[in-house]
Amino acid sequence: MTNKILCGVDIGGTKLSTALLKHDGSFIDKIVDYDHVEKNEEQLVEQIAGNVNRLLEKNSLKENDLTGIGVGSAGHIRFRDGVIITTSNLKGFKNYPLRNAVQTHFKIPVILDNDANAQAYGEYKFGAGRGCENMVFLTISTGIGAGIIIDGKLYRGYTGTAGEFGHTIVEPSSELVCTCGNRGCLMAVACGMALPHIFRKKIEAGEITTLNLPDEFDYSKVDGKFLKEGLNVNDPLSKAIILDSAYYVGLGIYNIFQSLNPQIIVLGGGLLSWGDIYINHIKKVFYDHAKDMLYDPLEIAVSQIGADVGVIGAASLTLELC
Ligand SMILES: [Zn+2]
Repeated sequence: MTNKILCGVDIGGTKLSTALLKHDGSFIDKIVDYDHVEKNEEQLVEQIAGNVNRLLEKNSLKENDLTGIGVGSAGHIRFRDGVIITTSNLKGFKNYPLRNAVQTHFKIPVILDNDANAQAYGEYKFGAGRGCENMVFLTISTGIGAGIIIDGKLYRGYTGTAGEFGHTIVEPSSELVCTCGNRGCLMAVACGMALPHIFRKKIEAGEITTLNLPDEFDYSKVDGKFLKEGLNVNDPLSKAIILDSAYYVGLGIYNIFQSLNPQIIVLGGGLLSWGDIYINHIKKVFYDHAKDMLYDPLEIAVSQIGADVGVIGAASLTLELC
């Protein structure tokens, strides 16, 4: 374990977080910007480099005090080349060599990875996966992202896009079409992007809701928070949709278990705010399918890092270099 400082940059859809962390994962300092999505590639690189240098100066540190700079970004990343293949969070950035562009501002190494991989490594180093050398992290919010730890290392596959469990197909006959164009991907049926459609279909099928919906109800308002509020007032429709989501996530975890035999699966993301009813049903569906094929316990746990997992995960990537 190094005694150096970790530096992380999390490029999110709404905020750009840049942070310095102690080697135990605790914060030293952080900058959060909300204007980065308006910037082009060169401007964003300048903003990232400027933030890192500002944090170093403010905390009387030098580049060499850092293990490196870890950058996490949503989208498909060609890890070997440090290239963003495509991301829906930012304008442009098609096949953009972000790692090298940031690297031109620094002598210490820069590492770029997908945000879910960064979060997985953060949970492995500092969160619910500590000490578990074989772990899968799933983040369930608007979409589903994942990261795989095998024998204590991030598993990235041949080019770096491994772990896209959100696009594994769990319901081929589903009418829900994924962002990838296929029907019945796990993320198309189970998470935030599916909720407005599922809610509307159930209303049209005559299912009962105790929520007071206006005549011209805008179904795009149905998100995780909306259903959580429904759950809080015992709305049967909100509860049914939450259990449906849990069913598909449970199936997804079963498929992961059969493929990778991890010791622990760590769940994060906004939909975890649905709480015990959600997590317990995910576990039930998993155990119902694993039956007597489960020779050793598989722990299904909730992220311990919480809201800062993006930037902590990005910083943790630099520990791969130590
Ligand atoms: Zn898909």
